[in-house]
Amino acid sequence: MPAASVIKSNLEQIRERLTRAASKRGVSPGEITLVAVTKTVPVDVIGVAHALGINDFGENRVQEALTKIEFLPPDIRWHFIGHLQTNKVRIVLPVFDLIHSLDSIKLAGVIEKEGKKNNKKVNVLLQVNIGAEESKYGFKQEEVSDALGELADYRNLKVLGLMAVAPFLPDPEEVRPYFRQLYRIFKNVKIPGIEMKYLSMGMSNDFEVAVEEGANVVRLGSALFGERS
Ligand SMILES: *Cc1c(COP(=O)(O)O)cnc(C)c1O
Repeated sequence: MPAASVIKSNLEQIRERLTRAASKRGVSPGEITLVAVTKTVPVDVIGVAHALGINDFGENRVQEALTKIEFLPPDIRWHFIGHLQTNKVRIVLPVFDLIHSLDSIKLAGVIEKEGKKNNKKVNVLLQVNIGAEESKYGFKQEEVSDALGELADYRNLKVLGLMAVAPFLPDPEEVRPYFRQLYRIFKNVKIPGIEMKYLSMGMSNDFEVAVEEGANVVRLGSALFGERS
């Protein structure tokens, strides 16, 4: 795992690149939320990133996340970014602030029920399989509008935006059309009761292009912590 000085310099470079991309887009860098993705990253290294000023962290596996979260400061906002199994909803709700990966109506139903039991409004993003890839979870783009229409009636689940994992293509310019398309969907949602606030797209390989195309949440793992083994 990287030394604190390496994380610090990675973070400085990320911030510079985010600032440049935001200014190309004509938005302030303060409008972009950096979620540090900490899968496989140990607690002490997460603590280093937190001490450097990061307050939003993302995990994609429930068990791994729970074993780490209890050792970290309570002011951290935790983002769940992986596929969420319905039988894990109960343990996820108390610890995560935003679930990026709402990928089925069935899952929404379980979240709604569990939210009601706990008298809680659960914040989620609708995951869109923007590349229509077999291997990926999420709603197809043509399903988004109907899904949001249905979820608008839920009382204990609040959709705050969209999330996507774009197809992995070595040249981030090739990913640009996917980001542009997701932004178009995001902007065109006009459903009473649903506010499109967050657009979570862009990872280490392509986050600048994502911001240029309208992302206001980026999820970065390896750019900050180095390659995962
Ligand atoms: C791992 C992961 C990321 C971060 O990936 P990097 O390429 O390391 O930045 C972002 N989003 C999701 C859903 C992930 O699983």
